[in-house]
Amino acid sequence: MTQWVYSFGAGHNDGSAEMRNLLGGKGANLAEMASIGLPVPPGFTITTEVCTWYYEHGKQYPAELRDQVATALARVEQAVGARFGDHRKPLLVSVRSGARVSMPGMMDTVLNLGLNDATVDGLAAASGDARFAWDSYRRFIQMYGSVVLGVDHHRFEEIIEHVKLDRGVIEDTELTAQDWHRVVDGYKDMVAEVKGQPFPQDPEAQLWGAIGAVFGSWMNARANTYRRLHDIPADWGTAVNVQAMVFGNMGEDCATGVCFTRDPSTGEDVFYGEYLINAQGEDVVAGIRTPQPMSEARAKPGERSMEKAMPAAYAELVQVRQTLERHYRDMQDIEFTVQQNKLYMLQTRNGKRTAAASLKIAVDMAREGLIDEREAVRRVNPSALDQLLHPTLDPKAPRKLLSRGLPASPGAACGTVVFTADEAEARAAKGESVILVRIETSPEDIHGMHAAKGILTTRGGMTSHAAVVARGMGRPCVAGAGGVTVDYAGQTLMAGGKVVQAGETVTLDGATGEIFIGAVAMVEPKLSGDFETLMGWADAVRRLRVRANAETPLDAETARKFGAEGIGLCRTEHMFFDPDRIGAVRQMIMAENERGRRDALERLLPFQRQDFAALFRIMVGLPITIRLLDPPLHEFLPHTEAEIAEVAQALGADVTAMQRRAAELSEANPMLGHRGCRLGITFPEIYEMQARAIFEAAVEIGKSTRKAPVPEIMIPLVATKRELEITRAQVDRVAQEVFAESGYHVEYYVGTMIELPRAALTADSIAASADFFSFGTNDLTQTTFGLSRDDAGKFLPVYVEKGIMAKDPFVSIDVEGVGALVRIAAEKGRGVKPELKLGICGEHGGDPASIEFCETIGLDYVSCSPYRVPVARLAAAQAALNAAQAGGGGDRTA
Ligand code: PEP
Ligand code: MG
Repeated sequence: MTQWVYSFGAGHNDGSAEMRNLLGGKGANLAEMASIGLPVPPGFTITTEVCTWYYEHGKQYPAELRDQVATALARVEQAVGARFGDHRKPLLVSVRSGARVSMPGMMDTVLNLGLNDATVDGLAAASGDARFAWDSYRRFIQMYGSVVLGVDHHRFEEIIEHVKLDRGVIEDTELTAQDWHRVVDGYKDMVAEVKGQPFPQDPEAQLWGAIGAVFGSWMNARANTYRRLHDIPADWGTAVNVQAMVFGNMGEDCATGVCFTRDPSTGEDVFYGEYLINAQGEDVVAGIRTPQPMSEARAKPGERSMEKAMPAAYAELVQVRQTLERHYRDMQDIEFTVQQNKLYMLQTRNGKRTAAASLKIAVDMAREGLIDEREAVRRVNPSALDQLLHPTLDPKAPRKLLSRGLPASPGAACGTVVFTADEAEARAAKGESVILVRIETSPEDIHGMHAAKGILTTRGGMTSHAAVVARGMGRPCVAGAGGVTVDYAGQTLMAGGKVVQAGETVTLDGATGEIFIGAVAMVEPKLSGDFETLMGWADAVRRLRVRANAETPLDAETARKFGAEGIGLCRTEHMFFDPDRIGAVRQMIMAENERGRRDALERLLPFQRQDFAALFRIMVGLPITIRLLDPPLHEFLPHTEAEIAEVAQALGADVTAMQRRAAELSEANPMLGHRGCRLGITFPEIYEMQARAIFEAAVEIGKSTRKAPVPEIMIPLVATKRELEITRAQVDRVAQEVFAESGYHVEYYVGTMIELPRAALTADSIAASADFFSFGTNDLTQTTFGLSRDDAGKFLPVYVEKGIMAKDPFVSIDVEGVGALVRIAAEKGRGVKPELKLGICGEHGGDPASIEFCETIGLDYVSCSPYRVPVARLAAAQAALNAAQAGGGGDRTA
């Protein structure tokens, strides 16, 4: 019989941390904590398999589930010494969702489940506190009512406000047991009116209602959005955790808190977090009361640290912190409750952290001996490094401070103010930089947070939703800016008498919590010693070389600074658009005959020579792949009539002739048209000029520095062996001419891009004329799928959302299709030429999952944009470690 339910706590632990796929992260860790002797209230986990079963069977449960839940519940009752629905000593439970990875966006927790009109008296008697009991009951109706029954939470707030007004009090704390009783009556009437049936009184019915709501929430819109953004498959399912309640709100010797074993923003080795005396979990994150710091070292004047207020429980917690870090060998995010001075652990999981913290924690833990260097390399998400490599505010730049909040997620961001997630998304889609400003955020705002450059909230602490989600996404965030007032209706934010309207620009500094009016200049990041250390460890284990796609000296310098080991793609057409040259380029295109073209190319030659010489100097000693002209000539011509007239005048050309030429060059499918080597074959003088510029620059550098570069000349869009033979012969001929003229010889290679399916399938024959292959996976994806890289953005997101494609194939390589072609080409190429150098220069060269694939098929290098070079270095190291674990290195096809 399938086991659908796993117990934990009170000496009966069916599960363990390894079972996270089955029990979800929360359930697996509760079982693990209980089994290493930590104080965990007993409970049970309904497995993720039940969720999958539920959706596969028209939202039904497996037949054995009810019995298994009943048995597990009886075990909890026995352990706690209370019974579900018992009028004198009722068992109360919490019900929580818990997927394999933590997923904000799913059902919120339901606490105090089991309370009804009778058990509330039992709770009052057992706790000796009627006010507490009625407050708990109203909390339960409120939570259950909103998250399970879907009643708008404003309806509950109205009732409390009404009772407060009636009693002439301001704070909730001033309400008595009778007042809460009135609130409960008001709630029940309201729920009955809204739902058309009374609030469920039977604890069993309550429990199954909550279980159903957890499974239902797996497919709600917020969860679907979150899954899409984080590549979480829908078939993982969620588990449901049912656990005996402990109370942090039973008096002044009770508390509840959320904390991290190290600082999740900086990675510093301090106990970091917030707690509240006499409160339940949701009070800490809701931002209604201001949580207090854990450690005295972090307490500001007027704050009361837990270390001071509850020394015994704090000391125990410090012990737990150490046990957890030693056990999990990672920073933990924990939730706890203190009931009458006794500590209970409610959750632990690997804590979300900023990229900076992730780096520091990995390096520190390796130095502390908790993990080894390889493990440290594995611990840092390569994509997260991006956050460290992006600009921060220029300390010298002038600025106008508006207000301050908490430094919730580092990095600087500048953009126009918007007040809703939908607007953030809409404006960002049009290319605008926006700052999403909210009083507080909820999982419904995730799409807007993702679209925004930065997030500002006026409520909530460092563990608020906004802070946690922004850190995970790498968005700069200032949270809890209490001095800022947001007026949604008026579309303004105000602070210190200053007003900022929607659409005006603000700048956030997520590292200091400052908010500025207007745009503030930013500077390039300085990388910490930890970054260099980790990169050093990564470089020591990776096999793949990492090059950069760069054509300007600035790009090349940035790339070198980030550790690029050469240039894998210099797109020479980018050099043509420079204002100095575009005139000559257009003249060349406009020329009526070869003579005219050669004259114009003659003017371009010195510019190109200079470009290449500059790159050779920066990249001295490193390989440089220069790709000859690729785009259709039409791209260089002006498009509108006014532009054509202007250019014609500047060139001294005839407007109608220019229009005619533009019309002649225009193509229905330019990406499949007259471009790449097809240009080189029909207008050989273009490639000849480029080859001459490359060789003359190489000779010049070789003569002046005695360290001649070794250019790798690359022919684009080759489909047949003959195309490469013809263009290669041109290049070889020019090389011989330049060497003869200069009396100086440099080594060089000629290779091709493999970016068409035909080239991949006939790579053995093409390899005969090629010294290297570089996979142009942008075009290869475009041509393999028959999917325009310029237009697919309109519908590909729908494909990804519907699960038709797991990921956008232009971002992460489609291993099954495009990857198969790459593999075939690599095998065929190396089959005839074992020493054939293989690289990739499409966008996939900077994508960690694609890099993993490149490792498995034994490419020599990946090439990506300069800012992604560190990402690629780390991803290549992780790929090498994975390959070694899977049984030794890339399956080199030679
Ligand atoms: C490619 O097609 O993958 C490539 C690198 O070339 P481009 O993006 O310039 O077409
Ligand atoms: Mg291409």
